[in-house]
Amino acid sequence: MQPTSRRTRSALRRRGRRTPAGHIQPDHIQPDHIHTEHVHTDQEHTDQVLAGRKQDGRRHAGRPRSRRTRSERARPERIRSERIRPGRRPRRLAALASVTALTLAVSTSAGAGHLRPDPATAAGSTSLARRASLTPCMISGPSSVQMSEGIPTGPGYSRSTGTVRALNLMIDFSDAPGEGSAMERLAEFAPQTRAWFATSSYGRLDYRPEAPISDWLRMPKSFKEYGIERGAPFDPGYRKLVEDLVRKADPRVDFRKYDFLNVLVTPNAGPSALDTVLSVTFAGNQEAPVADGVPVANASFVYSRQDDGSGSYAETGYRVLPHENGHVFGLPDLYTHEGGGAVGHWDIMSEDWGAGNDLLGWHKWKLGWLDDTQVRCAATPGSTEYTLTPLPRPGGLKLVFVPLDSRTGYAIELRARGGNDAVVCRPGILVYKVDATVDTGGGPVRVYDSRRDSGGCTNSPNVHAELSDATFVPGESFRDPGSGVEVKVLATDPEGNHRVRVTRR
Ligand SMILES: [Zn+2]
Repeated sequence: MQPTSRRTRSALRRRGRRTPAGHIQPDHIQPDHIHTEHVHTDQEHTDQVLAGRKQDGRRHAGRPRSRRTRSERARPERIRSERIRPGRRPRRLAALASVTALTLAVSTSAGAGHLRPDPATAAGSTSLARRASLTPCMISGPSSVQMSEGIPTGPGYSRSTGTVRALNLMIDFSDAPGEGSAMERLAEFAPQTRAWFATSSYGRLDYRPEAPISDWLRMPKSFKEYGIERGAPFDPGYRKLVEDLVRKADPRVDFRKYDFLNVLVTPNAGPSALDTVLSVTFAGNQEAPVADGVPVANASFVYSRQDDGSGSYAETGYRVLPHENGHVFGLPDLYTHEGGGAVGHWDIMSEDWGAGNDLLGWHKWKLGWLDDTQVRCAATPGSTEYTLTPLPRPGGLKLVFVPLDSRTGYAIELRARGGNDAVVCRPGILVYKVDATVDTGGGPVRVYDSRRDSGGCTNSPNVHAELSDATFVPGESFRDPGSGVEVKVLATDPEGNHRVRVTRR
């Protein structure tokens, strides 16, 4: 049942852009002061995040522009990303043993999670570097930015350090009866996502995927009746879905034990991910239905299978879940209406199909996974030399940030193959701009390409090839004449560390 037309479309797209591209939905919320040329009609491949959070007792409202919007009242922000891929899905039966172990852990763990946002511990901030010298690098955006790259992450999201408990519920429908067993569905994501976060966080995030209900939860309505489509807002379809699954699960689940919810939908519900990625996260959604006295404020929904047909699905097909959960922790989407062209494969919030990738050092700092000795803030004029250690390797200096003002700056880090980064083909210094005034999906991060129009150095499917060789190597420099910032890569040592000189005026 290989869909020829899909394959043709994907092939055309790849030929045109060399890489899978994503497209922001027309109803993507975008504050007026940020660019708004994102409207795109390509309905393929999206994931989205809805985040509505309260700050200072006031709801940050975005006005979705969706034609489908039924409610005119303030609503959670929404975000989306996308993916692409032609392909078939292999059956996954692996790792059932470890899932079983995780399930057993559920019944014995005395949890202290919060499906709702923890007001005392915003994402990352529990262990965020507080050294005074770093303060100028803690850029932040205006309150109109709903999901910002600013540090610290605002309230409303899940904690991103320590032990977090993810409640996994597998659901099916009368018109899409569970395909395989619910625990097989969980096995597609759970142990790998736990390991991904352990690696990316250097052990600082102990992600516990738990599944107290081991069978499919049959929703009372058909999938069709919920009206779940790409870009669907929380109301009314998702609200109804969450209400129904809370009602079904509540007798067997104490929702207070968990930090957030993963809803793993039977893969035969809705369109193939090759056509449309429905996966979505609603983060910090204070108006979500209440379960056991707490709102189900942070919830990721995963649909279909992101099988790119390259044969990598069994190993890396789970990566939609760490992407979605990245939103639960407050990370914005880094792909734009142009797809992965802003950040490429350097962050899972940019591209989550295909080969494994990690998060930017900036995100690791934002999430509280780097301590204050691992970050330097180049806030004063002059030249300073730093020795950066490869991002995948625990310990050592990971990030130099050059603030341009209170909202933006340049980040400098060393990327090399290892850990979650599987396809780094040109190890070196990655330079990117972080702009806390740009909202999710609008390009809050831009990677600078040291070799423009080179075509890149990888043939790995689903990797934005052009940026794959964006890194700077010894002898090369990044310069921004406008701000007077220069980053010169001086040398490497036998351990692969890179010496850089950062100059600013
Ligand atoms: Zn996303």
